[in-house]
Amino acid sequence: MAEAPRHPGRHFFANPGPTNIPDSVMAAMNRNSIDFVEAEFLAVYDEARAGLQRLLFTNAEIFFYTASGHGAWEGTMVNLFSPGDKILIIGGGYFSAAWAALSAKFGIDVELMDVDWRHGLPLAALQARLQADTAHEIKAVCAVHNETSTSVVLELPAIRAILDAEQHPALFLADTISSLGCFEFRMDAWGIDVVVGGSQKGLMLPVGLGFSAAGPKALAAHKTATIPKFYFDWTPMLQRRTRAFTGSVPVLPFYGMRESLRLIEQEGIEAVWARHHRLAEAVRAAVRRWGAGNAGPELFCTNPARYSDSVTAILLPAGIPGDAFRKLLLDKYNVSTGGGLDRLSGKIFRIGHMGDLNEAMILGTLGAVELALGDAGIPHQSGGIMAAMEALQS
Ligand code: PLP
Repeated sequence: MAEAPRHPGRHFFANPGPTNIPDSVMAAMNRNSIDFVEAEFLAVYDEARAGLQRLLFTNAEIFFYTASGHGAWEGTMVNLFSPGDKILIIGGGYFSAAWAALSAKFGIDVELMDVDWRHGLPLAALQARLQADTAHEIKAVCAVHNETSTSVVLELPAIRAILDAEQHPALFLADTISSLGCFEFRMDAWGIDVVVGGSQKGLMLPVGLGFSAAGPKALAAHKTATIPKFYFDWTPMLQRRTRAFTGSVPVLPFYGMRESLRLIEQEGIEAVWARHHRLAEAVRAAVRRWGAGNAGPELFCTNPARYSDSVTAILLPAGIPGDAFRKLLLDKYNVSTGGGLDRLSGKIFRIGHMGDLNEAMILGTLGAVELALGDAGIPHQSGGIMAAMEALQS
């Protein structure tokens, strides 16, 4: 078999998750196995768990799974609902639709609100839907905080305010998989009952550690939920010292998580959010420059109030094959980006700017994108890098 071509220099990983893993996090995980009931590990586990609670701004229970985000979704849904329960999932992209499809498989009666993918939920539509539910049949409202497929964010406090204004008792579930550790999220203050989370984005860890955080209302709902479950069942997990695992505990990711949370707190959680915002603004400035006055690339999100600070989806001019463009970026410049999902397949590409990232890294990615736009003959105005630097300096 022919050897793969060599890509000299550093691989620029600009996917919207998984993300770059800091050297010290990799080093923390580079150790031999120890028994997961040993005191040494339990101390690490406790520190990591407490750090995660601080990042979530909560005192809620946290249940961990050896799983990606899909496992965290599944673990959450099977613990809260019974077949036939009605829930409302706010649509707007591939991930909200996938959450709905997964839930429906368990016999949950899912209503997926179909919303404009470029703009996101009209809040008035949610209010009207909850107002119409006078019998309170809707058991939960589920929101993807950051729709990674479109780079559109949902304002969770506004959704909480609607639930409160309508005095609606539904549980409020938030998928924070691509927002946690990237931009503001506050579980308790925002009245979120359940959080679904994963390890591989803002937490800067490998894929494989999913979790649910469950507040008191969620723990009460769990007691009557009848969907069959075994590995994910919270009831036996609550009896265990490592609160949270059925079977063997993956020890090494907790060494990594303790270190990644230490890094986040060393920088300061709010400083981490501010850095993500600064880098995101630079990406958006570059895209605006590329698309200025021509039929060039444009920001997929058309609602500036909902721009994502962790990922930017970029719409390519009609007829440009997005996946071929991404292949060019990877093959020629060693830059990896995300592609379009579902109905956006081939139409957009996504630059992830979450996790362990700085100005030089984002400028490197943007520079390669601008070179590749030229190579591919895609109409665009040059100077995206200048616009990004201006944004960084402003
Ligand atoms: N939810 C969101 C918002 C995501 O971005 C993703 C993955 O990118 C998932 C859920 C699914 O997570 P995973 O791919 O780890 O199963």
